[in-house]
Amino acid sequence: MVDIVDESVLPTRAAAETRRRDQAVTACCLAAAVAGAPDLAEDKRADALMSCLGVLTAAHRIDTAPTMSRFRAGLRGPLRDLLPRDIDITGIGDLVLLDDRGRFTDEAEDLCAEFLVPSAALEEHWPWHQVAAEQEERRVYEVLRRLPEAEYARLRAHLVDEPVGDLRSLRRVCDGSLSQFYEPIAQWPWRQVRGWYFPCPDCRWPMRVVDGDTIVEVRCEAHARHGITYTCRTDGPAGVAPELRPVGRRAPEVAGQPATRESLAVRRVVWRYVTLPGLLECRVRDHALRLGAEVVMWPHRDRYDLAVTLGEQVWRVDAKAWASPVALGEALRGTRPAAPGLLIVVPDHQRPSLELLRHLVGGSGYRVLTAKDLKTELTRAAAVAA
Ligand SMILES: [Zn+2]
Repeated sequence: MVDIVDESVLPTRAAAETRRRDQAVTACCLAAAVAGAPDLAEDKRADALMSCLGVLTAAHRIDTAPTMSRFRAGLRGPLRDLLPRDIDITGIGDLVLLDDRGRFTDEAEDLCAEFLVPSAALEEHWPWHQVAAEQEERRVYEVLRRLPEAEYARLRAHLVDEPVGDLRSLRRVCDGSLSQFYEPIAQWPWRQVRGWYFPCPDCRWPMRVVDGDTIVEVRCEAHARHGITYTCRTDGPAGVAPELRPVGRRAPEVAGQPATRESLAVRRVVWRYVTLPGLLECRVRDHALRLGAEVVMWPHRDRYDLAVTLGEQVWRVDAKAWASPVALGEALRGTRPAAPGLLIVVPDHQRPSLELLRHLVGGSGYRVLTAKDLKTELTRAAAVAA
């Protein structure tokens, strides 16, 4: 975690423009969330969409904001078509918030949280304090940070290794802070088929069930792009786990688990900002250990995530799995690395955004690599050291 913010780094004008962009993005994201919510009453939906369009219109200066019908239709197209033409939309112009069936797309929820800026006009429609990603990420780490160092590492490892579990065993791991990190899966109908949930074979978090009629789609929001997608029939005998049919290219067999009142899973924010980067960290750790390196996980609590020592060289690493590299870059910009030359490691699929991310944090003293790049760098260093 890095949280030393130096406000003076951002010139006021640029900050105002960034804010204008974030307000416009926020308005579009909230509109998409509202438009894609199946059980929202029509008058509430219309109200919220009107407020969103109002905020978006205020962000348009030189060109005209879309009409309501263009706004609604535009939520299914690239974001650039809705945003003002005179703001910098690098890295976000191609985002599509609603899929072709009008559902809020995977990751759109996290993107919204990452770009979110409070707006009085939208306040009544969205509880800001609960969703701003940076604040949420910070809050989770603040709770962790209060623990003694050994406890910290143990609980953090647990949140990565066991993102689901039953109440009784989890109480033994984190009794006092359980509800800060875990929620009952039974409260998430969108992650169940007939009362059963399916852990992702990669991150083990309950996969998302995308509504359909007798056949639904089941996929991990973070790993669907790697081929972790299934279909599932919703009809079947009571008490028997529904069967998943692999669809994606990397979809091993997964057994359904009953979502009892005792079944808990880490909260979405914990999954996004602790579990997912934790998987990256653990994979780098395992690779480094195989090379004979010395590895310390989560040294000094949250100053950074892992330290790898190979001979004379030390790599200090912070892994980040934000949905949007732009939002990550902007959150890091204006901060100082918690350790000299701190490496920011992002998932391999964000390689196309590396240059942009490097540009955003340029001059701040961070190095930015994908997990694969870092592993290659470590392998080379080990070969030289041998
Ligand atoms: Zn997953």
